[in-house]
Amino acid sequence: MAEPLPIEVDVLVVGAGQAGLGAAYWLTRQPGLRVLVVDRAAVGQSWVDRWDSLVLFTPRRFSSLPGLRFPAGPTRCPTRLEMAAYLRRYAAHHGLPVRTGVAVQRLTRAGEAFIVETSAGSLVAAQVVVATGPFHRRYVPAAADELSPEVVQLHSYDYRRPEQVPAGQVLVVGGGNSAAQLAVELADTHEVTVAAPGPPWYLPVSLLGIDLYWWSYLTGVLNADRDSRASRYVRRRGDAVVGRQLRELVRAGRVRLVPHRLVGAADRSVELADGTHLEVSSVLWCTGFRPDTSWVDVPEALDDSGAPLHTGGASPVAGLHWMGLPWQTRLNSSIIDGVDRDARAVADRVGRAVLTGQREHRARPGRR
Ligand SMILES: Cc1cc2nc3c(=O)[nH]c(=O)nc-3n(C[C@H](O)[C@H](O)[C@H](O)COP(=O)(O)OP(=O)(O)OC[C@H]3O[C@@H](n4cnc5c(N)ncnc54)[C@H](O)[C@@H]3O)c2cc1C
Repeated sequence: MAEPLPIEVDVLVVGAGQAGLGAAYWLTRQPGLRVLVVDRAAVGQSWVDRWDSLVLFTPRRFSSLPGLRFPAGPTRCPTRLEMAAYLRRYAAHHGLPVRTGVAVQRLTRAGEAFIVETSAGSLVAAQVVVATGPFHRRYVPAAADELSPEVVQLHSYDYRRPEQVPAGQVLVVGGGNSAAQLAVELADTHEVTVAAPGPPWYLPVSLLGIDLYWWSYLTGVLNADRDSRASRYVRRRGDAVVGRQLRELVRAGRVRLVPHRLVGAADRSVELADGTHLEVSSVLWCTGFRPDTSWVDVPEALDDSGAPLHTGGASPVAGLHWMGLPWQTRLNSSIIDGVDRDARAVADRVGRAVLTGQREHRARPGRR
């Protein structure tokens, strides 16, 4: 039988992905803090659950968490299974206090602390770090409901390999890296059309023999503050497609690219913003995700759409912190390379808050 959860902790980290593990690394270095990390799945599961051929776009050098280098290997960038194995090894190497198979179902405020209801019982936490990742609920445009049931529809989250897509034609909807990578993969076996919201912004994997990530690092773009000019420019431009394989296939006539947003659908046809109608038999939605914060029952923590309110990961709710949010502090906040700096900042804030709380508790009248 699984050991019961502690009744009370100083800090609960929700999520044992890279963001939660990085936070736990720095939190457990603060003397005297009782830290617990819970995850509903196994460590590394979010990488295991991605498509079979996925290779990270970040080189090994940019895929490490604090205190353990990502191992060298035969390829420039790690595979998803190498990343999952690294995260498991990371948790074990640092002896991080992780409990898997524990889903947090409700978080409420109780005075200055939080009550956390989980699938393994409830506990009280003085501070909570939410590191549940930005990718929860598959997003597909409402128009998807108008398509005939005969049209096979799949979201990139559920895609594993080309055999899942019926032979023949497939429409890939989306303009990001998932759409580009999956269109390239499917082009070997299928007749692929990509409907992107605009012309993709391609960036080369390397320039003048220097890796794109080195360029972003050396020019400071990767680490620029979220409100800097460089960061605002990158946000305005939107996600870049790393690599030019899709562009080459489009130029070679092996993939058709229609750079217009999908605005409607009916029966077996979709309509794009320029009035183009495309007949479809299969659609692969690479249209992203929406966060699911429905379990955070602390109204001041979220905006009307359920998105976290925060400044650099610090919630307006005392004791609540976020990790791994897109643009939390910088461009690389939601990728592996950015975890260290944000995690260290979160751990410092948490440590200071716990110390202050303990001092105030000791100083309360009536305590001897
Ligand atoms: C297709 C794809 C490719 C990517 N490629 C790269 C890349 O090459 N390089 C890069 O740096 N980044 C990449 N990223 C971005 C990012 O690094 C990953 O999304 C990464 O998994 C985010 O880590 P995380 O810890 O923030 O979230 P996650 O990895 O999603 O971890 C969150 C954890 O929280 C747990 N959880 C969620 N809700 C609860 C709950 N209520 N109770 C308990 N546990 C919960 C989940 O089980 C999960 O284990 C990619 C993302 C995608 C989608």
